[in-house]
Amino acid sequence: MTATATTFSSLDPRTGEVVGTYPVHDAAAVEAAVARAVEGARWWAELGFDGRARRLREWKKALVRGLDGLARTISDETGKPFDDARLELALAVEHLDWAARHAAKTLGRRRVRAGLLMANQAATLAYAPIGVVGVIGPWNYPAFTPMGSIAYALAAGNAVVFKPSELTPGVGMALADALAEIVEGRPVLQVVTGFGETGAALCRAPGVGMIAFTGSTATAKRVMAACAETLTPVLVECGGKDPLLVDADADLAAAADAAVWGGMSNSGQTCVGVERVYVHEAVADAFTAKVVAKAEALRPGAFGPMTLPAQVDVVRRHLADALARGGRAVVGGPASVRPPYVDPVVLVEVPEDSAAVTEETFGPLLVVNRVRDMDEAVERANAGGYGLGATVFAEKRGTEIAARLRCGMVSVNSVIAFAGIPALPFGGTGDSGFGRIHGEDGLRAFTRPQAVARQRWAPPIAVTTFRRSSRAVRALVAVTRLRHGR
Ligand code: NDP
Repeated sequence: MTATATTFSSLDPRTGEVVGTYPVHDAAAVEAAVARAVEGARWWAELGFDGRARRLREWKKALVRGLDGLARTISDETGKPFDDARLELALAVEHLDWAARHAAKTLGRRRVRAGLLMANQAATLAYAPIGVVGVIGPWNYPAFTPMGSIAYALAAGNAVVFKPSELTPGVGMALADALAEIVEGRPVLQVVTGFGETGAALCRAPGVGMIAFTGSTATAKRVMAACAETLTPVLVECGGKDPLLVDADADLAAAADAAVWGGMSNSGQTCVGVERVYVHEAVADAFTAKVVAKAEALRPGAFGPMTLPAQVDVVRRHLADALARGGRAVVGGPASVRPPYVDPVVLVEVPEDSAAVTEETFGPLLVVNRVRDMDEAVERANAGGYGLGATVFAEKRGTEIAARLRCGMVSVNSVIAFAGIPALPFGGTGDSGFGRIHGEDGLRAFTRPQAVARQRWAPPIAVTTFRRSSRAVRALVAVTRLRHGR
């Protein structure tokens, strides 16, 4: 993030080397991009579901052909291991494929029952594109996360203007470049680069029909405030403080593996990463010993540095606060924080009101607290403002416990599985945001429902005309009494 006032550079967080230099798009440039997108949206919408699906499948193939190159850019801009970047892209491609294949069936016009009173009407419902969708994305999964909005918005018939994080502009550009040729250079997916002001300009640009934002809760509030000025609808995917619950009958080896992967992979910089564990006291010692062994075995290279330098301070603060309040480090400690890296830290006996339990840490720091039973685990899991994802490990009661959790997604006996299933909607509640990407809900999120009632014949009892008789209304009320009053 150096260079001049009109350009900035993305840096490799492992080395500080410049990965690429990009323009800082100001409000005028963003508005011009949105104006072009209005044209692009018209062309794209007219292609219809089949025409779009064909092109989206071509895009998918192009992304797969260029997968290793794009993974390299992801790895360079975020510092994450190359294989993690490849995994991210493989999942993103699955979503793109699903969105392209399911848009017509989910959104195309279909008949719905008109009901007895309106039997003379043919009722149909379709989900029409909004026009131009502004997508604002984060840096932690710079391909997978924004594609959850971009792929579904495009499949639904919208043009997209994408503002990637200032840390990962190269990934955003590469995604758009791969589509450009397939859509004959039409402005269907454009990227605007820059800092927060560029994102703010996108929220305010005339012609933007909707904003899909993924990022922190604090920024989400600013985005909503900007969008309130123009009554622009928003979809908000924010952070989380996801719990993992371990019941007494759980497969402890699998649960420990999931806790360590869910907590430490991508250096803990995962919105649906595991940040706190509630383990049944009957198995707490055995489970914790397994977590400790697995976390200690992690070697440099298993995950990268902290992508956002300032996040190191958050991890340091949460760790110090937890230790000061009586928490105990069973893996790592204050010396684990050695910027830009943070080595795995596992804490036990951390008070529930400490920052490491209530705030999003977004680092490889796992809190493991023991509970009396799963009722207490559920109660603690549901405390606090976030409600994004959760994980349950239990042999018998997994689904039952999952249903009691206040959050948008739960994986039972595996971790983060829901994110890889395109048919499942993804999103949270409370401080984690609202609205859904992925799945049928994720397609509908980028549309406006359009209801049409077509009269097939004149109604036998006409009540919506000044020519109606009192007898007609009496007949209607008699039918209502018969149907609903008994
Ligand atoms: P930020 O909120 O800092 O930034 C998100 C995006 O918003 C970036 O592109 C940023 O640009 C942009 N932005 C910043 N200020 C404004 C503004 N005033 N108006 C419009 N846009 C603005 O989040 P991070 O990038 O740091 O991402 C980490 C957060 O994202 C975590 O809290 C994480 O949990 C959450 N997240 C949620 C996911 C989900 O699906 N629920 C998935 C992944 C992450 P710039 O970078 O240039 O400042």
